[in-house]
This record gives sequence, structure tokens and C-alpha cells, in this order.
Amino acid sequence: VTPQQIFEIHETAVKKGFYDNWKASPEDVLAKIALIHSEVSEILEAYRKETGSVKILEEFADVFIRCYDLLVALHDYHIVDHYDINLVILEKMRVNGMRQHKHGNLI
Ligand SMILES: [Mg+2]
Repeated sequence: VTPQQIFEIHETAVKKGFYDNWKASPEDVLAKIALIHSEVSEILEAYRKETGSVKILEEFADVFIRCYDLLVALHDYHIVDHYDINLVILEKMRVNGMRQHKHGNLI
């Protein structure tokens, strides 16, 4: 997903009213994070109920969409200084590739 598409995801959410009266207060941000949690749980439920590949993939997509959306909102309020998350993921992949087995943890 390109930065332009990430921006469009947020733009759609704004147009659909998901940012009406949203001011990036701690409660506003926490509510958005809670909704990301709810989408993660929907992946678990889709898997648990054996709903099949399409449903599981759709729930993954919902997680990413909500994450991208929140990133742009956080950028609008200067909480993060950019939303080119691909760059950050590539850097994290590089760093993780150098870490020890299971990153030194039991699981
Ligand atoms: Mg969902």
C-alpha cells in the first residue's frame, strides 16, 4: 500500500464520519486503538469458526485499514511525523533479521 493509498484510507474514514468530533485526545486515540484490537479479535474468530480463507483475509485487511487510518490521523495531529510505514517496516525487518533466535525469548 502506497503512502497515497494510506492517505486515501483515512480520507474515506473522514468522509464516512469516523472523525466527527475527533480531536486526538487520549480518549479519542485509545478508542481507535481499541477498534484495531476488535479487528484483531475478528481474525481470531474467523480462524476459530473456520470461516475460510476469504473471511480471514478480509479481517486482516480490516486490521491494516484501521492501522493505516489511525497513522494518518496521528500525523494530522503531529503525534507521528510521517505515515510512510513501509519504510519503518523495512527497517524493522532489517533489525529483526539480525536478532537472536526467538529474539532471546521463550516463545
Ligand atoms: Mg472486521
